Amino acid sequence: MKIAAPLLVENIKEMQAWSREQRTACRRVGFVPTMGGLHEGHLSLMKIAMKHCDRVVVSIFVNPTQFGPGEDYRKYPRDLERDMKLLADLGVDVCFAPKTEAIYLSGDVGKFELGWGTDRLCGASRPGHFDGVSNVLVRLFNAVLPDEAVFGQKDAQQALIVKRMVDTLHFPIDLTLGKIVREPDGLAMSSRNAYLSAAERERSIGLFGALKAVGGALSAGERDPGALAALGRAKALAVAGAEVEYFELLEPATLGAPSRIGDGLLLIACAIKMERARLIDNHVYRIEGENVSEALLF
Ligand code: AMP
Repeated sequence: MKIAAPLLVENIKEMQAWSREQRTACRRVGFVPTMGGLHEGHLSLMKIAMKHCDRVVVSIFVNPTQFGPGEDYRKYPRDLERDMKLLADLGVDVCFAPKTEAIYLSGDVGKFELGWGTDRLCGASRPGHFDGVSNVLVRLFNAVLPDEAVFGQKDAQQALIVKRMVDTLHFPIDLTLGKIVREPDGLAMSSRNAYLSAAERERSIGLFGALKAVGGALSAGERDPGALAALGRAKALAVAGAEVEYFELLEPATLGAPSRIGDGLLLIACAIKMERARLIDNHVYRIEGENVSEALLF
């Protein structure tokens, strides 16, 4: 059976008109925002959207405002034809691929600043990154008008910030998270993995190893956040042999460090810098007494 290619939409008004038509027909519209360079992680989010919704829109937009000076905006993988084929195979309805000038109109000076959780973890080394993410999402949400948007837990801090933004601005959008999709050896899939040299690729699984070691210690009963973070940092450094930008234990509700680990959700997040790429990964656990199980942030 040959599946039709998704409708390619570049124009905001056309996108809005399409979405309004779906709503008039009582169809639920699902949305998965991406920057392209699609992999199984992205596809898993689309499958969730397809399960929950009648129609699915995937945006492919490499957002300049979330890249800092000297970051990889120019070399970020772009291959619309390849991505469109993957969307067609999956049966996605619309690929929304606006030009930068369509999203950020000339004279666009309106800038939204959430002011929550944006200056720590990834935000500390990438100042302005999460404001860039929030600002593009406000514009994409208004263009796509989705009922539901699906994000990946791979970007845990982003997911929490987006949730906060949607709650704060009262967007009538249900948010859903998809769990991290990994390569068989544990490395979290990422469009940026393509930058890694063969040797770096081999060492990069140390990041997952460090997270697993901390999860193991947690399951074995260790509850001292300082000791757990120190274990993670040491493991990441030893195995990945890279600069450990951060390895932190956090309360998802506040994105702050817990003084003690009790019942509830715990986010363990880390970032390492290798020569050719910066990699992030995380584990989320639900702790109930002695029971420790993997969980979604929401
Ligand atoms: P990006 O194209 O990197 O901006 O990512 C688009 C969406 O895909 C975001 O919600 C990411 O969190 C999600 N994503 C990226 N990598 C993965 C992965 N390995 N597993 C699940 N979701 C992912």
